[in-house]
Amino acid sequence: MNADASGTGRTARAPRRSSGVPELSELLTSAELRAVRAQGAEDLDDMLRLTPLRYIVPGELRDLGALREGDDATVIVRVVGSQARRMKRRPGSILEVRVADENAQLTLTFFLPKDHIVRWHQEHLAPGTRIAVFGTVHFDPRFHQGAPQITNPRYEPYDGSAEARARLMRPVPVYRLRKKAKQATLRSAYKKAVEFADQLTTILPPTVRAAEHLPSLPEAMRLIHTPQDMAETERGTRHLVFEEAFILQTIFAQRRAFDARTPAPALRASGPLQPLLDERLPFTLTESQAEVGEAIRHELARSRPTNVLLQGDVGSGKTVVALRAMLQAVDSGHQAVLLAPTEVLAEQHHRTILNLLGDLGRADHMHAHPDATRVRLLTGSQSVADRRRTLLDVTSGEAGIIVGTHALLTESVEYAALGLVVIDEQHRFGVDHRRRLRTKGADGKNPHVIVMTATPIPRTAALATAGDLDVLSLTQSPGGRPGITTHVVHEEDPAWESRMWARTAEEIGAGRQAFVVCARIDEREERADVEIMGEVFEDLPSGTDPGPEPRGVTQTAERLARRPQLHGARIGVMHGRLSAQEKQEAMDAMVAGELDLLVATTVIEVGVDLPNASVMVVMDAERFGISQLHQLRGRIGRGEHPGIAFFDTRMPHGSETSELLAKIAATTDGFELAEIDMRRRGTGDLVGEEQSGLHRTLEHLDVLRDEKIIARARGIAFDLVAGDVDLEDHPQLAAAVERRLRDADPNVERS
Ligand code: ADP
Ligand code: MG
Repeated sequence: MNADASGTGRTARAPRRSSGVPELSELLTSAELRAVRAQGAEDLDDMLRLTPLRYIVPGELRDLGALREGDDATVIVRVVGSQARRMKRRPGSILEVRVADENAQLTLTFFLPKDHIVRWHQEHLAPGTRIAVFGTVHFDPRFHQGAPQITNPRYEPYDGSAEARARLMRPVPVYRLRKKAKQATLRSAYKKAVEFADQLTTILPPTVRAAEHLPSLPEAMRLIHTPQDMAETERGTRHLVFEEAFILQTIFAQRRAFDARTPAPALRASGPLQPLLDERLPFTLTESQAEVGEAIRHELARSRPTNVLLQGDVGSGKTVVALRAMLQAVDSGHQAVLLAPTEVLAEQHHRTILNLLGDLGRADHMHAHPDATRVRLLTGSQSVADRRRTLLDVTSGEAGIIVGTHALLTESVEYAALGLVVIDEQHRFGVDHRRRLRTKGADGKNPHVIVMTATPIPRTAALATAGDLDVLSLTQSPGGRPGITTHVVHEEDPAWESRMWARTAEEIGAGRQAFVVCARIDEREERADVEIMGEVFEDLPSGTDPGPEPRGVTQTAERLARRPQLHGARIGVMHGRLSAQEKQEAMDAMVAGELDLLVATTVIEVGVDLPNASVMVVMDAERFGISQLHQLRGRIGRGEHPGIAFFDTRMPHGSETSELLAKIAATTDGFELAEIDMRRRGTGDLVGEEQSGLHRTLEHLDVLRDEKIIARARGIAFDLVAGDVDLEDHPQLAAAVERRLRDADPNVERS
């Protein structure tokens, strides 16, 4: 099922034309053809599916007397007279046409480069002619005694008939212009093309279209490109929205079906380890953890490979849920792998799992529980001896749970009986990784896969863009969490700054620890362009330049050491330029309580668990993304002490950025923040690399607006694929799927 087995990049488009569809070159003039091709369309199907960016909607007809400065007006008038004169400083002429209705006068001013164009207008604007005029009204006291005028208006003859009136009210499409194409050229191209809409390939099966009360495709095209009113454009667009949702859901349904062709081991056992762990947990599971756990238990027990996206805010307790699932695998005689994005995190997961399991996880120890399993760590930087020992355990099946990084994906790792793969922080793993794991299951079977993410994706967005995964969400925080409060601190208020460091010092004085996160390592050496709330600026916006106090990690650490309030505090640094060992030492020193304050870049963003940390200061908070800020904030308040986060910013009070920071400060609900993020930037980063190609090309679908449509399209597409996996009875749909995948990513593999 390779779309491009050669791997050489974009392949030529598959021809999918059935006979009788005219080539664009047969339909259009060469100028029109150029304009349409510049839009990226190669055939009629492409072309007509490119919808206008917007429409110019003519206003109500107006009396001239009622016009105001700046109005976009439509008026019916009679030509009184016209006069042309040469321009003084440029070649060409000014044509002034006086027009009037019963009440008042208006001047139309045309700036025209060529004499023959002046004559052409004068012929169409002979005195007494009735015309409809469209344009923006200006009152300039310097001209025409301050009477209204419109510069370079559009106009057309008007005979007062009902049809003429209706035609006036039609929305006028505005197309995206590329390569100096002209709007008028595109409009005329589309007018012609719509006449041939009957020849288009209809992708939606007729029964689906009927059930959804959608216009036919040709009708939709007419409604979109030559509408009578705005309601028509909406009706037409619904066809394309549904079509797009339907194609995407068909892709997801097929992926599922292809996955299912290679069965997974049914992990059916319900003991002994999993219930033993439950007894040993120092807390009771939240309702949400229990529910999600049940859903996962049910999934893993089937021989269809599980593809679950387990999402939950930072601190929602995903690890325990994952561990219980892994024990279900071990109890069923299989192995489970936990993949982390970094070594530090892999090591931490390894420790956490060993702690949670206690004697259940130390099969190689003297005091092990009789049913104990073995938990092994595998990372790239382990010593050869450690690695050998681990690999032996993995191959022999002694190791029930294996924790590691990408190293676990290399070909040389042979599993005795891999049944489940848990991937932490999915955004660091692409689809390739998941595919590589697929061959690693026991007896050539597929392992089950659970992907954990702390960047929640709103449900509909997940369905629209990651629809081959089942989304399970942990919606509660474990009770008794002390919580986090967040303050925005503006640098323009020195008193606040001072108070912020004083609070930090108080926490340190009480035995707690603090993180200070900087956007850069060393501000003096780095390039000037910065990112502000995800937008890149080449130069710092005014008022935000580093000034005399640059504050990369290095400078900030130096500066804090000089602050009287923090006198005596033990300050460390951590950033990406340190060696793995130096980073580890810094982190270890924090964990051991040998440091009070760590100044770092976002290397601390993911996962590191430090229950004693209670303060998080983010310097230049505006340079981080919304979910990043939320993630950073989630590093504190994880123990028994409440957390305080400070978003320190150089942006002024009342600025848009400052307002946004305040919004983030005001909520701790990751789902709400994800939605704010999505509304600001589109689905962008939310879905990670995995389906990025697919969603980046969303054309008509709006994952927030079209929630219901997506859900319905999904139901229908999954039913259809269940009965016809290879879409043999739906060749048009099959071609559309193929095309969609190729457009999303020329190198993408289908399954
Ligand atoms: P996540 O990975 O979702 O960010 P973790 O799984 O690391 O969260 O859990 C955060 C902390 O909460 C851990 O210390 C964990 O032991 C604890 N925890 C998990 N579930 C519960 C629960 N039901 N009650 C109390 N504490 C819990
Ligand atoms: Mg975690």
